[in-house]
Amino acid sequence: MDIAVIGSNMVDLISYIERMPKEGETVEAPNFEMGCGGKGANQAVAAAKLGAKVTMLTKVGDDLFGDGTIKNLEHYGIDTEFVKKVPGSSSGVAPIFVDKESKNRIIIIKGANQYLSPEDIDQAATKLKKCSLIVLQLEIPLETIYYAIQFGYKNQIPVILNPAPASKDLDFNRILTCDYLMPNETELELLTGLPVQTEEQVQHAAKMLVDKGLKNVIVTLGQSGVLWMTRNHVQHIKAHKVQATDTTGAGDAFIGCFAHFITHNYTIENALKMATAFAALSVTKRGTQSSYPTTEDLKQFLK
Ligand code: ADP
Repeated sequence: MDIAVIGSNMVDLISYIERMPKEGETVEAPNFEMGCGGKGANQAVAAAKLGAKVTMLTKVGDDLFGDGTIKNLEHYGIDTEFVKKVPGSSSGVAPIFVDKESKNRIIIIKGANQYLSPEDIDQAATKLKKCSLIVLQLEIPLETIYYAIQFGYKNQIPVILNPAPASKDLDFNRILTCDYLMPNETELELLTGLPVQTEEQVQHAAKMLVDKGLKNVIVTLGQSGVLWMTRNHVQHIKAHKVQATDTTGAGDAFIGCFAHFITHNYTIENALKMATAFAALSVTKRGTQSSYPTTEDLKQFLK
């Protein structure tokens, strides 16, 4: 195994509406789509599409979405030995409403994701110890995240933490041993309490994290690219200029791709360059997992 993703899965339930209903009103939506998502699953799929051997630790409900989620992970070749069903719980779902102007409103029900616990990490310990990277996000309980970070540290397995979605409850002192902290601008702002409107401000906020002891702080900046900072190195890598159609899941694409290349002996700089290309390609297509390119697509793009 190359990569263990310990994180969430969700089923996106997307209604394309003319307008939001008022209180007590029923409106008809012309279109509906369902898709597999969740930050953990997205990142696992991004890495797997590039050929990484990925195992996923996550929990699904005992409803009709649970089996679909497992099938979807298996479709991408992801190992599901530690994808467990929680009796009596719903799966994680995200009803999403997209209006005519492409503005969205999203409700997240974490469902079974809330039950992924430190004991689940213990149960998977033998397999996890064979992985060369652990990837985490914040859609599972914080205690499980802190435990996974400790597990990585004790067993000398590098850890990526993507502190998303932004959470005020994250205890900074318990994430300091992560090898790679990968927030976007909004998450960086919430983590540091500092403004991030200009490039200098982003650098200043990232420096605060490095000064606290984080080894690699990698801030994704949408179409402005990415900033990588360590104690003695700062580098800005520009985004590729593309026609963006749907930027949903760009951050997950970026992290999954970075995880793949960093476990395949790429330098951090080169893994970031590959991730920048991969994420750019992903925003040119609609959808999340389905918009992620393959190794072949990536090769063609970089020719
Ligand atoms: P998130 O989805 O977490 O908000 P970002 O929006 O920062 O993450 O996007 C992650 C990465 O995807 C960026 O660092 C960039 O490399 C790439 N990306 C995002 N939007 C675009 C865009 N419009 N054009 C080109 N690349 C993009």
